[in-house]
Order: sequence, then structure tokens, then C-alpha cells
Amino acid sequence: MKKFKGWFLLLPLLYGNCSGGGGAGELGLVVLCGILGFGLLVWTIEKKNGGGPRRTSAKMTNQRGVFLDKLLKQKKGLRLGFKQRRIISKNIGLYHWLPKELLNPWEERILAFLEQFPITHMKTKNATEEMRLLVAAEACLLIVRRPLSDYRHLQVVHLWKDEIVGSEDARGTATRHEVNLSWSYLKKTIRNARDGHNLTLHEFAHLIDFADDGVAQSIPVSAHSEDHKEWQTLVDQEHARLMQAYESGKNYSIRAYGGYESIKGDKPELFSCGTSAFFERGSRLKRECPKIYEALKKFYGVDPASWRKQKKA
Ligand SMILES: [Zn+2]
Repeated sequence: MKKFKGWFLLLPLLYGNCSGGGGAGELGLVVLCGILGFGLLVWTIEKKNGGGPRRTSAKMTNQRGVFLDKLLKQKKGLRLGFKQRRIISKNIGLYHWLPKELLNPWEERILAFLEQFPITHMKTKNATEEMRLLVAAEACLLIVRRPLSDYRHLQVVHLWKDEIVGSEDARGTATRHEVNLSWSYLKKTIRNARDGHNLTLHEFAHLIDFADDGVAQSIPVSAHSEDHKEWQTLVDQEHARLMQAYESGKNYSIRAYGGYESIKGDKPELFSCGTSAFFERGSRLKRECPKIYEALKKFYGVDPASWRKQKKA
């Protein structure tokens, strides 16, 4: 829409120059019509793109983000090696549900991620090839239809054998710049693609939530976004529904943790728990919470409720 507004501002200037005489005036009208036509075309194209994943690259001003999006373009058409794909297919349950048309964009993102983000084991050494690959693959599943610049603030991922040193109660933590994951718990939660629990998807969803404004409040878009108000209303409504469901003892597609955990009035867990449910229990989430399903579908640009388990080469 920015482009359209830019053309609109040019109109009075051109019209003013051509309004004095007959021939010049006609020429002015022709130019005017041309510009209007072009403006309309740009607007129509942008409208058409509006239903799909967000085109954030045009608005991206963060240097790291610009670099990451450029890098992803360079990975176009590149594929993982046979061994890498085998590790993913053996370990990640969702791999077998992912539609074939998403495999290429997924692998391009994995390659770029592996190149750019350090992943340690116990903060003392580099993670193994298998560890790095599985973390990268799950992190990139979230952004398979989104730009790599979603992770522009990420500096490092730390894997811990079991407990996270300094956060012993948690199996995963995320700030705007860092993700910590318990490797033993990660492995437990990636095989089952249909239980709604996925540590890596959960923590990287927090990272995405943090990226726009430094706050994880379950609103993954910036305050300037046209979707912000919608998200705000949705989070308040859905949080209330979630609390109600659990207080009445009802089982629900989004984990209870997504409702109860609240920091300084913010509700950081709803987006993360909702994201795990979206990818792993899409049909149920769509049935029980159609509004949140639609919001996540629009945000992530994928439709997991329509995914079916399939054989892959
Ligand atoms: Zn969380």
C-alpha cells in the first residue's frame, strides 16, 4: 500500500503543470490516466497478495533482517543432502505431514539457518550435526512461508543435555536474542506430530512474538500493523475462553499453560501454545477455536488442518 500512496502524492504536481493550455492539458490527462492505471494495477497486485503470507521484506529496515532475507533468496533451489533429509525424516514427525510443495522452501530456510545461527551444546562446544539440523528444521517449519528475518534478533541457540543450567524448572526458554532447549525433552516432543506438544516450535514462536517490539504478549505483529487490533481482541477473548474451559475441567486443544501463565498482565504463552496446537492439532484447533486458527493461518501462511500423512521419497 505504501507504493500506492507514493503515486497518489505525485498527482497534484503533474496535473498543476499541465492544466494551463489545451494540448498540454490533454497530454496531462493522458499522463494522469496512465499513472492512475498504474497505481490501480499496483494496488490490485498488492490486494491479491494480501491473502497469503505477509510480504514483510519491503518494510524491513533492520540490517540483519535485510541480510537474512537476501541470503534466503540466494538459497533458492538448493536442497539438503540425502543424509540430512534422512535424519529429519527419522526424527521429526511433522515431516511426514508436510505438503510436498512446502519441502523446497523449508529446505532453503534450513540451509540458511544452519549457516547463520550458532547452536551450542552445554554452552561449551558446538552442537552435533544431528542436533543442529533438527533445531534448524523445526525452527524453519514455523517460517516456511515467512521471511528468515523473523529471526533477525536471534544470536544463539543453546542446547542442554537435560536441565537448563540457571533455569532448572524449564525445558526451554526464549528471550529476544537467545533460545535454550533441553535436548532430551526436544527429542521426546518432535517425534509425535499429533500431540500438540513441541518444545522447539513453542520456543521459536516466542522468538517471533518478541521480534516486532521486544515483548512477548502473544501479538506477533507490530503496533503499526493493520492486524494489531484484531490480535489484541483475539488474545483477550481466547485467554478468557481458555481459562473458562480449564476451570470447568474441559479438555482443550490449546494447553492449559497457554492460559494460566501471565507475566505483568501480558499473556506470552497463548501464541506459543497456540502455535504448537496449530501445527500439531490443526483440525481440532480449527474446530474449537476457529478465530485463532484463522489468525495463525494468515500469520504463518500455512493450513495444517488440511495436511495429510503421506509417503515421501
Ligand atoms: Zn513458553
